[in-house]
Amino acid sequence: MNFELTKEQQMIKEMVREFAEKEIAPNAAKWDEEAYFSIEIFKKMGELGLLGIPFPEEYGGAGGDTISYAVAVEEIGRACGGTGLSYAAAVSLGASPIYYFGTEEQKQKWLVPMAKGEALGAFGLTEPNAGSDAGGTRTRAVLDGDEYVINGEKCWITNAGHARQVIVTAVTGKDDKDKNIISAFIVPTNAPGFTIQCNYDKMGVRASNTCELVLENVRVPKENILGDPAKGFKQFLYTLDGGRISIAALAVGIAQAAFEKALQYAKERKQFGQSISKFQAIQFKLADMAMEIELARSMVYKAAWLKDQGKPFTKEASFAKLFASEAGFRICNQAIQIHGGYGYMKEYGVERHLRDIKLMEIGEGTSEIQRLVIARQLGC
Ligand SMILES: Cc1cc2nc3c(=O)[nH]c(=O)nc-3n(C[C@H](O)[C@H](O)[C@H](O)COP(=O)(O)OP(=O)(O)OC[C@H]3O[C@@H](n4cnc5c(N)ncnc54)[C@H](O)[C@@H]3O)c2cc1C
Repeated sequence: MNFELTKEQQMIKEMVREFAEKEIAPNAAKWDEEAYFSIEIFKKMGELGLLGIPFPEEYGGAGGDTISYAVAVEEIGRACGGTGLSYAAAVSLGASPIYYFGTEEQKQKWLVPMAKGEALGAFGLTEPNAGSDAGGTRTRAVLDGDEYVINGEKCWITNAGHARQVIVTAVTGKDDKDKNIISAFIVPTNAPGFTIQCNYDKMGVRASNTCELVLENVRVPKENILGDPAKGFKQFLYTLDGGRISIAALAVGIAQAAFEKALQYAKERKQFGQSISKFQAIQFKLADMAMEIELARSMVYKAAWLKDQGKPFTKEASFAKLFASEAGFRICNQAIQIHGGYGYMKEYGVERHLRDIKLMEIGEGTSEIQRLVIARQLGC
């Protein structure tokens, strides 16, 4: 594995950084305050080709690799955690499952507009009573002639309020061990009986759109089933493995933003006649922060590289997500500490990073679930 970004990856990093610093960062505090999801920014990201980075050109994408995509997530997250979350969810959860498991027809119909940035997609797995334990899904889909009839509820679904379609998981039967068979369906958001409400008042990632879904006798054609109907569970596990790389990259971006603010502030703030960066206690915090960011980023690149090589990456994606989110939380917390009382004030922008990064320890599998995944990979 090459530990330097290639020229192409470096170019993407610079391009996304410039875009995010100009178009996203100046609005981040306002979007956070107003819990505003900017569809305009997604249109611009679409025009730049960011929504199609990891998809082949034949499907409207840029033909880039997972490292390039992770680099883009990091840079957007550095500017705004909420926009970063919606970007990561659009690509990893909305579009990727169709690329991985869709038929050619589904790819043309649903993936191409997303990769071109002309439409957004969402992924509805979580339910009020089925979070970490997705096997406990209660949403049901019953075949009726040439259509499936879906009934159920989903919660906290990213981007659903602006999506053209949501991939919804639903129970379609029982296997020979009496376990639920879970399938995935592509459900257009304008289908009759499909209600989407986006009224959550979130602690962080407030620029991201998060919605509750209710499906009442929603009918979709049989051909909207995604992939193998009996392997919906395996499919979303694979989808989440990929998504975890992007959540880890997002944590790195948010932590990087908090670190940069803390470093600058430490050099400027004077107490006891000198910059606080001259105090060893502050220097050690900054040293730990810089080290943990670099370690987390390296793990993100490694997991992404393994995925691109077609090698197993489940364990490494969990390593990356677990370490980046927990280290990122420590880093954002210390960034506030370095700012003292000013860090506690919204004006300085560091408290937003702590609120935003907390989600990284919860979404796409909590830290506890990451430890379970890793332990299973160790053969426990
Ligand atoms: C802002 C936001 C956006 C989201 N976006 C999406 C989305 O786009 N699509 C989607 O499907 N979901 C989404 N989610 C849902 C998210 O993935 C879940 O919140 C997460 O998987 C945890 O589920 P839960 O909240 O039900 O917690 P629970 O599963 O109820 O867990 C509660 C606590 O118990 C612990 N726990 C549970 N089981 C175990 C165990 N076996 N061993 C040890 N500890 C355990 C957990 O780690 C946690 O600490 C989003 C959530 C948020 C907050």
